[in-house]
Amino acid sequence: MGIPPGCVAGLLVLLSVGQTPPGPKAADVTLRGRVLTLASALQSLGIAAQADPEQATKQVVLLGDDRSLTPLLSDEASRALFLDERLRGGRAEIRGRRFAGVPYLQVTTFQVERDGRLQTPEYYCTVCSITVRAPQTCPCCQGPMELRMRPDRR
Ligand SMILES: [Zn+2]
Repeated sequence: MGIPPGCVAGLLVLLSVGQTPPGPKAADVTLRGRVLTLASALQSLGIAAQADPEQATKQVVLLGDDRSLTPLLSDEASRALFLDERLRGGRAEIRGRRFAGVPYLQVTTFQVERDGRLQTPEYYCTVCSITVRAPQTCPCCQGPMELRMRPDRR
C-alpha cells in the first residue's frame, strides 16, 4: 500500500504521554460476547430500566457470554464501535485493559464476526489506499472511506 506524497502530514498521530501519577493496576483481558448499546444490552438482559436515551443509546457495552455487562471506554481504539452500528450486534472479541475498581474497559483491539469468522474492521480510501480505525472522511483527500475487513495477517 503506497502513501501518496502530501498525505503524510495528515497521517501524523501525536501520542501524548502525560506525566500522570501511577494509577490502579492494569490487567490485559480478552472478552467475548456481543457489542451493543447500553439500551440494547439492558433489553437483552430483561432489565426494565428506563435509562435516559442520551446515555443509553450512546454508551457502548460488551454483553459477555456470561451475561456480564462491560462498558467500553470511548477512545481511538474503540471509536468505530461507537460510531458504526454495523459493527454492533454480532459476535465480537475484544482485547483490552481493565483497571482495578474501574468498570470501563479500555479497548486495545477488537474483532467482529463476519462471514463466520472474527475479523478486524477498518476504513479504507480507495483513492489514497490508506486505512484508519474509525469512520471518518479521508484525512488525505477528504473523500468517503469504506468499511472493509482487514486482510488476515495471522
Ligand atoms: Zn483519500
